[in-house]
Amino acid sequence: MNSTHFDTIIIGGGAAGFFTAINIKEKNPNLKIAILERGNEVLQKVKISGGGRCNLTNAVAEINEFVKNYPRGKKELRSCFQQFGNKETILWFESKSIALKTEPDGRVFPKSDTSQTIIDYFLTRAKELKINILLKQNVESFTKSSNNNWEIKTRDATFFSEKLVLTTGSNSKIWQILEDIGHQIVKPVPSLFTFNIEDQKLNQLMGISQEVTIRIKGTSLMQQGNILITHWGLSGPAVLKLSAFGAVNLSETDYTFTLMVNWLKDNTYDQVIEKLKVIKQNQAKKNVLKNPQFGFTHRLWEYLIQLAQIPENLNFADTSKLHLQNLAQVLTNTNYSVSGKSTFKDEFVTAGGIDLKEVNFKTMESKLFSNLFFAGEILNIDGITGGFNFQNAWTGAWIVSESIKNG
Ligand SMILES: Cc1cc2nc3c(=O)[nH]c(=O)nc-3n(C[C@H](O)[C@H](O)[C@H](O)COP(=O)(O)OP(=O)(O)OC[C@H]3O[C@@H](n4cnc5c(N)ncnc54)[C@H](O)[C@@H]3O)c2cc1C
Repeated sequence: MNSTHFDTIIIGGGAAGFFTAINIKEKNPNLKIAILERGNEVLQKVKISGGGRCNLTNAVAEINEFVKNYPRGKKELRSCFQQFGNKETILWFESKSIALKTEPDGRVFPKSDTSQTIIDYFLTRAKELKINILLKQNVESFTKSSNNNWEIKTRDATFFSEKLVLTTGSNSKIWQILEDIGHQIVKPVPSLFTFNIEDQKLNQLMGISQEVTIRIKGTSLMQQGNILITHWGLSGPAVLKLSAFGAVNLSETDYTFTLMVNWLKDNTYDQVIEKLKVIKQNQAKKNVLKNPQFGFTHRLWEYLIQLAQIPENLNFADTSKLHLQNLAQVLTNTNYSVSGKSTFKDEFVTAGGIDLKEVNFKTMESKLFSNLFFAGEILNIDGITGGFNFQNAWTGAWIVSESIKNG
C-alpha cells in the first residue's frame, strides 16, 4: 500500500476542486497539495457545461439580485459573494488572460466559446504550481487519525493530510460517509429539468416560444418568462426556473402534477373578457381563427382557438358569450397534465447536500469537524441556469483558499 502525506488534500477534480487548489497554491506556494479524482479525467462537467461553452458566471450587478437566483443557499451566499462574487470571478479569469464575453441575457462565457479554454488553463496552471493530480483515486473513507490528521483511503492507497477539502459535487458515497460521521445531508433531488406533457396538439407546436405565466396547481409556485414548446412537453427559461424553485415539492409528486399556463402573463380572466368584447366590436367582420390577437403567432392562436372550441368559420361578430368566456378561460388558464421530467442537456444540477446550518460560511469549514472544508455542489446550494452554479463553486473554493492559505 502507498502512503503519502500532504498539507491539504482536495477530494474531487471538478470546478470547485481546481479553483481551490490553484488559489491555495497562488497564495502559499510552499504548501503540498493534492487533488484526488476518482475518474480517468478531471473537469468533466466543465467540459460539457453550457452546451460545451462553459457559462462560468452571470453579470447580474447587485448581490441582492444575484442571490435571488438560488432556490437553496440564497441567505448564506449573500455574505460569501461580498468576499468573492461574480465581479471578482470575472477579474480573476481576465487576469489569467482568459478573454470573456457577456451575452445580452447576462451569461458570461469564455470569448473562445469553448469550455476547453478553461480546462486548458486550469491544467497548465496546476502543473506550473506543482499541484499533485492523482487520478483513479475513488475515495472510500476519510477519518481523523490519532495525530489529528485526516486519513483518506482509496481502494489501493492511504493518504494523510492536515486539512481536507471536499469538492465531490453530488456524489452519494461521500454524502453517506459524511452522514455516518454525524453531518446532516438534505435529501438530494434533481433540479433544472423540463416537463413531459403527452398532448399531441401541444407537441405539434414544437419550436414555439412564448412569454407566459406558469403555475403549479395546489401550490404557490409560479414563474413568468419564456416557455419553449418541445416534442415532449415544455422547456425554456420559465420552466427550468420553476423546476428549480419547485425541485423538492415536485419530487414529492413524483413529477405528476397540473401545470396552469396564463398565455397572457398577468392578465386576469375578467380583463381578457373585457378586451375580447372590444375586439368583437372593432373587428366584427373578421374571421376569429385567421386573425390572431394579443400578438400571438398564427400557429399558436389557431391552437388556442381550437382549445376554446370556436368554430373555424366564425367571425368575431358571431361569437357568443360562451365562446368569449371559453377563449378567456383558455388564454388565462390552460391546464396541462405533467407526467414526468426530462433532463435539460445544457445544464442540470442536484438540489440537496450538506445541511447549510453545519457550515461556517466565513471559512467554508465544517462546524462539526475542524480542518474539514466544503465547496461547490456538495453543499445544499443550487442555482438556476445562467452561470449561477459555477459561481457557487468559484466562491466557495476561493473562501476555502483564504482559510487554508496560512497552512
Ligand atoms: C450538462 C451540464 C451542464 C452544465 N452547465 C453549466 C453551466 O454552463 N454553468 C453553470 O454555472 N453550471 C453548469 N452546470 C452545473 C455545474 O457543472 C456544477 O454545478 C459544477 O460542476 C459543480 O462543481 P463541483 O466542483 O462542485 O462538482 P463536480 O463538477 O461534479 O466535480 C466533482 C468531482 O469530484 C469527483 N468525485 C466524486 N466523488 C469522488 C470520490 N468518492 N473520490 C474521488 N473523486 C470523486 C467527480 O468525479 C468530479 O470530478 C452544468 C451541469 C451539467 C450536468
